[in-house]
Amino acid sequence: MTGKHFIEDFRVPPGQRVRLTNFDPAFKGKHSKTHALRKTQELCVTMGELQQNFFAERKRSLLVCLQALDAGGKDGVVKHVIGSMNPDGCDVANFKEPTPEELAHDFLWRVEAKTPKRGEIAIFNRSHYEDVLVVRVHNLVPKEVWSKRYDQINDFERRLAANGTHILKFFLHISKEAQLKRFEQRLDDPAKRWKISESDYTEREYWDDYVQAYEDALANCNTEDAPWFVIPADHKWFRDLAISEIIVAALQSMNIQVPKPTVNIEDIRRKYHSAAKEGKQGRRKRRARS
Ligand code: ATP
Ligand code: MG
Repeated sequence: MTGKHFIEDFRVPPGQRVRLTNFDPAFKGKHSKTHALRKTQELCVTMGELQQNFFAERKRSLLVCLQALDAGGKDGVVKHVIGSMNPDGCDVANFKEPTPEELAHDFLWRVEAKTPKRGEIAIFNRSHYEDVLVVRVHNLVPKEVWSKRYDQINDFERRLAANGTHILKFFLHISKEAQLKRFEQRLDDPAKRWKISESDYTEREYWDDYVQAYEDALANCNTEDAPWFVIPADHKWFRDLAISEIIVAALQSMNIQVPKPTVNIEDIRRKYHSAAKEGKQGRRKRRARS
């Protein structure tokens, strides 16, 4: 299975209603964990190299949105996949409950400020989609407000794409059982207990509402310019493999061109390096004679 296959298999079909029950969160195909971990490592090396060239090219940018229910694995993807890139050209933005200042602006204001510069990659750990997900599920604004946001999001993403931002959106799809198991593992692991909050459990009561809200977001905001991928995420190793494959394939498809040197390399070599080499050799000869 190549990056192209991963793109085809996990891309939400455009223009269609989405039923998350048709996507198996435990899917792993014919992949074995050992092979997938090795392959992900290789892909991460390639991703790091491509990012270096992308940074040098400085013509376009890449925006990766990560959305999931709690314990869906957003942090894991940031650590295991995104961590392979040079932080100098890669920015991770977390979007939590909005501050009073953020709430005083329109919902896209805070995300706009974190969109990537040319040559850079931005990872949104949660994103503007929260404003049609948690906000909708908990009636934080009236329906007539959130229901207009799908079009506003499409306009925003279209504008970014038209100005050179490549967009990939990943929904990390876990099952309700896998989520509970992960919460339990967090309780058992002293290093991870700090992550647990009571709302993680109480939000489970709204599971079906979240599914509905996700299905609408995935269907209403799934354009050529800003596609959604539903990533099976019950197996962390499969999730990381799929996302690495898709990011690498996207970067490769961009045909990144490293800029030509602005100086004559041979001139520079002759001017500064051959003299230094001769100097070193001369010093060595003089030392040998004395
Ligand atoms: P972790 O994996 O560490 O739990 P997290 O992304 O869930 O990471 P939390 O601090 O637990 O971080 O939760 C952030 C909360 O902020 C989430 O419940 C999310 O739904 C909420 N949030 C994000 N954006 C908005 C928004 N626009 N309006 C209201 N709530 C939001
Ligand atoms: Mg949380």
